[in-house]
Amino acid sequence: DQVVVIKHVSKQYKTGTLALSDVSLSMQNGEFVTLLGPSGCGKSTILRLVAGLEPPSAGTVNAPAVSQRKQHSTAFVFQEHTLMPWASVFDNVWLPLRLQGYGKREVQVKVMSALRSVGLEEFANAYPAQLSGGMKMRASIARALITDPELLLMDEPFAALDDMTRQKLNDDLLRWQQERSVATLFVTHNIAEAVFLSQRVLVMQARPGKIIEEIKIDQPYPRT
Ligand code: ADP
Ligand code: ADP
Repeated sequence: DQVVVIKHVSKQYKTGTLALSDVSLSMQNGEFVTLLGPSGCGKSTILRLVAGLEPPSAGTVNAPAVSQRKQHSTAFVFQEHTLMPWASVFDNVWLPLRLQGYGKREVQVKVMSALRSVGLEEFANAYPAQLSGGMKMRASIARALITDPELLLMDEPFAALDDMTRQKLNDDLLRWQQERSVATLFVTHNIAEAVFLSQRVLVMQARPGKIIEEIKIDQPYPRT
């Protein structure tokens, strides 16, 4: 099944900026695809189009496999964590389920298991300010995955982290991906990260933003 189908999409903002010109791409269920390119080439614009946060100026954006239960089947992870500072880690991760009407007791096991899988089991009662940058990102990822989304959109999630933390999160993301295989559209301008994580890398250029090359990665990237 195809989770995302974009055909001949252009996007011009009201300011006149032509952010994307004739972009086409599709993603299969469970596939990990990375958009790689310099700042301003339209990577975030593509994610916003896929999430339905912006309309295309021309062309079509479809998410056939996610359209039925649209609201909860696409999850977004941003570079800046968007945890609620006044709520515990547990309550932050519970939030998407709470919005679906699930009480705390009901989802206790599920939330704790999500926290365990990102290594934050012992921090359920901590507050975001008590966590390191990498831990906040882990909590954000747990919250994104708690509703079992069909599509995960990640916009430079690790860009603000130091190299060691980033490397660790790359390893963990790859492992989670092997366990759950959620279709993921990942944005980065870090080549090593793109090659390490992805099954397919779409290389973009700016002014106007377009995809100039597609690289398939058959083997897991060897770590030196
Ligand atoms: P990237 O994520 O690759 O850095 P963006 O998608 O953020 O690229 O931006 C692509 C281009 O569109 C840039 O020139 C940017 O300044 C412009 N742009 C992005 N968002 C908006 C907006 N809301 N209004 C006007 N221009 C925008
Ligand atoms: P990134 O490079 O990480 O995509 P940006 O700094 O380009 O981030 O954009 C940050 C925010 O500012 C985004 O929400 C984007 O939509 C908005 N934005 C970017 N460029 C413009 C612009 N030229 N006019 C208006 N809004 C913009």
